[in-house]
Amino acid sequence: MDEEEASLKITASKQVPVTGEAGKTGTWRTFRPVINLDACTVVKKQDLVCNLCWLYCPEGVVTRAIPPEIDLDYCKGDGICATECPANAIEMVREKEDEGYGNAPENMEELT
Ligand code: SF4
Repeated sequence: MDEEEASLKITASKQVPVTGEAGKTGTWRTFRPVINLDACTVVKKQDLVCNLCWLYCPEGVVTRAIPPEIDLDYCKGDGICATECPANAIEMVREKEDEGYGNAPENMEELT
């Protein structure tokens, strides 16, 4: 199996997020992933050479694209993308209530 064929098989097997009885799962999130595009290997090389965030996301909310994008309507904030990113390009930042998602108290501050 060549690389293109393997990629197509992975894409075909990935789940697609949908709204369930509990609503959009992004509302469950306490920490939000933020991609530093200056550090992302895919953006720097302008080639789909990494995309581990897309591969490992169990929710299927990260695109295999340049740049990778995260669907925050459905991202639960598990942080797997940040853990797996070999470039340390993804930071998990605590949500604020006024941003519309997450259940963190108002007085929580960004983690830097
Ligand atoms: S895992 Fe990190 S370096 Fe790789 S595509 Fe995702 S954000 Fe970019």
